[in-house]
Amino acid sequence: MKIGVVAVQGAFAEHARIFGDLGADTVLVRLPKHLDGVDGLVFPGGESTSIGRLMRDYNLMEPIRELGQQGLPMLGTCAGMILLAKRIEGEPEPHLGLMDVTVVRNSFGRQRESFETDLDIPVLGKPHLHAVFIRAPHITSIGQGVEVLARYEDRIVGVKQGNLVALSFHPELTNDYRVHKYFLSLVEAYRGQHVG
Ligand code: GLN
Repeated sequence: MKIGVVAVQGAFAEHARIFGDLGADTVLVRLPKHLDGVDGLVFPGGESTSIGRLMRDYNLMEPIRELGQQGLPMLGTCAGMILLAKRIEGEPEPHLGLMDVTVVRNSFGRQRESFETDLDIPVLGKPHLHAVFIRAPHITSIGQGVEVLARYEDRIVGVKQGNLVALSFHPELTNDYRVHKYFLSLVEAYRGQHVG
C-alpha cells in the first residue's frame, strides 16, 4: 500500500512516520507527479490557509479533487479537515470542497486554544482515544451521507463520508495508532475493489 502525505506545510512528518511504522510505503506529496499510484492520501494539521495556497501554487488542488471524487481514501486532521470541507464559516471559498460539511476554524476560543481529552470513537473500539486539539476546527453541519465518528461535548469533531475521513484533532501526535490503522483498513478495502 502506498500512502501519500501532503507535505507542503504542517505536521506531515509524523503521519508519514506512523504509516511507515505500520508497514505502508509513504510518499511526501509536493508535486502532482507524487500522486502517481497512491492508494490513499493524508492532509496533516498545520495552517489551512497556507496549505491551501501552496497546494494551488504547486498545482495539486485539481488532481487531488479528482482523486477524491473518484473515491480515493483520504484522511484530514485538523487543518486537513478544513481543506476537505465544502463550507468554511466566514470564508467565501472552500479548498478541496470534497466533504459535505461546514467547519468553523479555531472554534474552541482562547480559553481552549489547545487541550487534550479522551474521546469515545465507536469505529475504533475501546478504550477511548486520547485526542490532542490545537487551535482546532469543529463541524457545525453535515449533509446526507456524512457519518459522525466522534463528538466532544455537543460538537462534532470526527466525520466520514464514503472513503473520506476528517478529524478535528491530531492522532499523529500520540502513540495510539488506531486512527491510522482504521484508515489503512479503508485503503485496503478500496484497493481490493480496484485491483485485478
Ligand atoms: N487553526 C488551524 C487552521 O485554521 C488548524 C490548526 C491545526 O491544524 N492544528 O488552519
